[in-house]
Amino acid sequence: QPVLGILGGGQLARMLALAAAPLGVKTLVVDSAADACAGQVAPLLQADWTDYAALERFAAEVDVVTFDFENVPAETAQRLAERVAVFPNPRALAVAQDRLAEKTLFRACGLDTPAFVAVDTREDLDRALAEVGAPAILKTRRLGYDGKGQFRLRSAADADAAWAELGAPARQHGLILEAFVPFERELSVLAVRGRDGDFRTWPLTRNWHSDGVLSLSLAPAPDVGELQARATELARTLAERLDYVGVFALELFVRDGVLLGNEMAPRVHNSGHWSIEGAVTSQFENHVRSVLGLPLGDTAARGLSLMFNWIGALPDAAPVLRTVDAHWHDYGKQARAGRKVGHATVCAGDAAALAARAGTLAAALGRGAQAAPALALLGR
Ligand code: ATP
Ligand code: MG
Ligand code: MG
Repeated sequence: QPVLGILGGGQLARMLALAAAPLGVKTLVVDSAADACAGQVAPLLQADWTDYAALERFAAEVDVVTFDFENVPAETAQRLAERVAVFPNPRALAVAQDRLAEKTLFRACGLDTPAFVAVDTREDLDRALAEVGAPAILKTRRLGYDGKGQFRLRSAADADAAWAELGAPARQHGLILEAFVPFERELSVLAVRGRDGDFRTWPLTRNWHSDGVLSLSLAPAPDVGELQARATELARTLAERLDYVGVFALELFVRDGVLLGNEMAPRVHNSGHWSIEGAVTSQFENHVRSVLGLPLGDTAARGLSLMFNWIGALPDAAPVLRTVDAHWHDYGKQARAGRKVGHATVCAGDAAALAARAGTLAAALGRGAQAAPALALLGR
């Protein structure tokens, strides 16, 4: 029975382990926290990323290593790769860990990005603002997630405040200043590439964020036209350049009808959670299949899906459980402000049925405002 090792024990590892089980694949998760939520569904080895003795034991017990967490130190990934197959490969991980390397690669692949400039010093920030203009967003190059490590500048007058907040991480890992894009919409494309090079994408997903955290995803994204083929080609080019194996997400903005690359996540991604019930094969199952060298499954959508993220605390489950074709996911995490603690996906055969189902549910949960942008698109 193959054993899949997963670095990081959050909800993504948990959902990977749940998808691996029916394939006869065992999982072993590494996390520094004894109460990491994947530990509720899979064996957990408690270790830090630099506890090389523990990681050596881990490597001896698993057939393939993958990630729930993309910020595993490159050194750790590299050391593991000397002992056991690691997918995605450490070089792909390293590129996706660094916003500067990532955006540079996007451009090399023909994917435009918001204007950006590297910032290492306070003087760099002034130069970058002169080049990029305002409004702009200053971001740490590394280790940011859920909008953390970012400062939005309305004008050059905010430079001191931005530096007060991000000057310290700048000294460690560097920053990047990006033009703020007044995008029409945010999309993501989930893609998977197998060990044999087989490549597939799921339908584009439309995403809405709140305070830099994903709030709502609708799939397939309506009215994408030729953007679907373009996103698939860009994702394929990226995957081939990186010799990528596994699932990844490419986060995109649409401005003036054109795709701009925001970032890539070298792992399964929150905006693909709808695929558990809303696609023929979920992102989690295809990730397990791909890293183990198994044939990939069909990525087509079954009807339409709307995913609600539960941030901070879970609402009452009962209205979701009472809704036809709605699916409840409780990650088993402690409630904490800003934390992703669960999600729910509502599925239906067409837009009108989804709008009716999701609209009634959102109202019952008191989440009408969260659902509103998707319901408007679905014609309700
Ligand atoms: P995660 O990894 O959780 O997706 P993150 O911390 O890496 O998030 P980003 O994806 O860079 O953060 O930004 C979070 C959100 O902030 C984006 O999805 C988008 O809504 C908004 N945002 C980020 N950069 C820009 C930009 N240059 N212009 C306009 N909006 C932006
Ligand atoms: Mg990110
Ligand atoms: Mg993002």
